[in-house]
Amino acid sequence: MVLAGKTAVITGSNSGIGLGVAFALARAGADVVLNSFTDRDEDHALAAKIATETGVTARYIKADMSKGNECRELIEAAGRCDILVNNAGIQHVAPIDAFPTEKWDAIIAINLSSAFHTTAVALPKMRERGWGRVVNIASAHGLTASPFKAAYIAAKHGLVGLSKTTALETAEEPITANAICPGYVLTPLVEAQIPDTMAKYGMGREEVIKKVMLERQPSREFATVEQIGGTTVFLCSDVAAQITGTTISVDGGWTAL
Ligand code: NAD
Repeated sequence: MVLAGKTAVITGSNSGIGLGVAFALARAGADVVLNSFTDRDEDHALAAKIATETGVTARYIKADMSKGNECRELIEAAGRCDILVNNAGIQHVAPIDAFPTEKWDAIIAINLSSAFHTTAVALPKMRERGWGRVVNIASAHGLTASPFKAAYIAAKHGLVGLSKTTALETAEEPITANAICPGYVLTPLVEAQIPDTMAKYGMGREEVIKKVMLERQPSREFATVEQIGGTTVFLCSDVAAQITGTTISVDGGWTAL
């Protein structure tokens, strides 16, 4: 229970990686605040499930990460915020000359600007309590590019840059800021890309996964939400106190190519 007594806020955590990270932090003893833009019974039920399974306090707070004021209100409503995991993210795939402006704006807002707003409110809270961890869920696409994902790649490169700046501004304090850069992790975000990719290449599901989606992931295996959760817990642990301003890839060798 290395994180007992800490409170973690995880944006975009009613699904996929965010939910996996919330479970991992709770299992390490942290109280958790889950978030997304919906306010359904099932969202609150996820928090209740975490509380029941791990014994920590878990809450769900609705806030739309595409809106700066709601990002800031989320951190205020959380009360404490010792650990901030900026995870909310969306994707849209199109060539630049056909990329809808509203999709560009939404991706930059949710995948990048939200982290600026949450970090701005969380840092003073971390300073008050004399300890803090900022973990930004970037991507292998925060370090490399692919065609047709202009907004996502620009946002994720930006998020890596924001992590570095946050680290430098807190370097002399007991606060660290880092980015985790996952390769492909099988979550609803990735699952949603499979049918289109199958249609585009005229392939079946397994063939599309191994030959197209995991083509750049040398392990030919998806990373798991548990692995991203474990990496987050590691970055929050005492042994990681001098790891700041960097990226940790969990990508099956993608960025070694
Ligand atoms: P997901 O679709 O399962 O989760 C995305 C989360 O963001 C959901 O909880 C969703 O509700 C939330 N969200 C979306 N719009 C929001 C908004 N306006 N306000 C608040 N919450 C919002 O996808 P995922 O794969 O778990 O992705 C999580 C993060 O991990 C994203 O930032 C994504 O870019 C990143 N990532 C994913 C992969 C992958 O292969 N799955 C790889 C690298 C990075």
